[in-house]
Amino acid sequence: MTRIGTAAATNEHWIAEGRAGYLADFGVYAVLLVVLIAVGVSGRTGSPRNWLAAATVGAAVWTLIEYGLQRFVFQKVPAIAAIHLVHHRRPCSYLWTPTWLSLTILAGLFLAPLWRWASPPTALGAVSGIVGGYLWYGIERHVIHHGRPRWLALRLRNAGRRHALHHGSGNSGNFGVRSAIWDVAFGTVLSDREQQPNRESTVEP
Ligand SMILES: [Zn+2]
Repeated sequence: MTRIGTAAATNEHWIAEGRAGYLADFGVYAVLLVVLIAVGVSGRTGSPRNWLAAATVGAAVWTLIEYGLQRFVFQKVPAIAAIHLVHHRRPCSYLWTPTWLSLTILAGLFLAPLWRWASPPTALGAVSGIVGGYLWYGIERHVIHHGRPRWLALRLRNAGRRHALHHGSGNSGNFGVRSAIWDVAFGTVLSDREQQPNRESTVEP
């Protein structure tokens, strides 16, 4: 079942919930990434080397976007914070940002401005990196919350341990999922000592 904004009493606006849509969102972004890579390496929009450079920068910028989302948007913007609270209450539920919304943000905030003020090849390369980062962020979030597939969960156990503290500590921190680099840079790393033993967290460390 997919529902959006049906739990008004708890401010659960802009939530889409349902396993099919949740998985379809991964599919849409995987296909989009493949198309962007194919266009980039084909040379149709310019030098593949330039596309790769822009994609690398885009992927690096994504880690900062991810940190900013987790630290500010998910905590401070009331409607979005309500969604994040639902995630903290039910970490394994299939909550997802509606694909139309994330695609609109991607096109409006990144693709269109870069296309207009940089160049189409730079825009496509940077967006490729951002899409790759967003897709991997989603995969990593799924794996560390659900613990499956097991082989990947084991390889991501450090990220899982960091995120378990994000859920299980009484303090705010460990906002980076993919990387701790921005938590280190901005002093928001949580230590193991901050884990509250009685605080509920279903994220596997
Ligand atoms: Zn989480």
